Amino acid sequence: MSFTLTVWGARGSIPTPGPYTARYGGNTPCLALETDGPAGGRLLVLDAGTGIRPLGRAVVERSSEPLVTDLLVSHTHWDHIQGLPFFAPLFDERSEVRIWGPRQGSIALERILREQMNPVVFPVPLDELDATLRVTDVEVGTFTVGDFTVRAMPLRHPGTTFAYRLSPTAGGRSVVYVTDNELGSGGDYEVGPSWRDDLVAFVGGADLLIHDAMYTDAELHRFRGWGHSSHTEAIELAADGGVKKLVLFHHRPERDDAAMDAFVGEACALAARRARGVEVVAAVEGLTLTL
Ligand SMILES: [Zn+2]
Ligand SMILES: [Zn+2]
Repeated sequence: MSFTLTVWGARGSIPTPGPYTARYGGNTPCLALETDGPAGGRLLVLDAGTGIRPLGRAVVERSSEPLVTDLLVSHTHWDHIQGLPFFAPLFDERSEVRIWGPRQGSIALERILREQMNPVVFPVPLDELDATLRVTDVEVGTFTVGDFTVRAMPLRHPGTTFAYRLSPTAGGRSVVYVTDNELGSGGDYEVGPSWRDDLVAFVGGADLLIHDAMYTDAELHRFRGWGHSSHTEAIELAADGGVKKLVLFHHRPERDDAAMDAFVGEACALAARRARGVEVVAAVEGLTLTL
């Protein structure tokens, strides 16, 4: 089964609207995976950064049918959930929105999403949304979401953050989503000594790897322990895992379009030298890839 992946938000940490980020985009993380089927397309959304707002408008505008959406959340830092209260299908009583993601310690995902819409910070409580809502805590391992079989593994990032490897259950290509991940030596995370080998196996042979590339190598030494990676580290992982295509993701808020062009050029030159066979692109809002 083929599917498309569309980038609706690729900026890390905080939205960066404005003329200097217009080409790569300023919305925080959100990707849409869409399959075709006899009953019409199905939508699986990765993360609910501010990119989920224009995605929600697009799906509501193009279809008058009741909509079932699956939303898989990597973790609950603001930049990955802050668009959710503005996701248009939540305001349609014919919609069903199923949200999946890790709990944080003993705090269930549903409680975190509810707190984000607490009346002291947001006018519409979670319980007053029109859509049918189902929130499920996921664990490390394999489970099914919509048309996809999903594998989850923990990442090196503050809090509980999962990578997801998604393949159509009916057969097809694989996408691995690894946002917010520190490949380098900084930080103190609860992962075992085999973690990097496990991650290489996890991404192994994937058709597409979307990976955190927030920093340049020069920037990285100032931000060790912050839970993010450089483009060089992402390229090394892609090469070690025999990945076909690497999508640089979670762009640094300070990096405007001109600086992004230079950053991507540097990454492509590096990949040509050290990771032959790995195609490198940057996530750009509006980019659609067919798998
Ligand atoms: Zn983030
Ligand atoms: Zn994060």
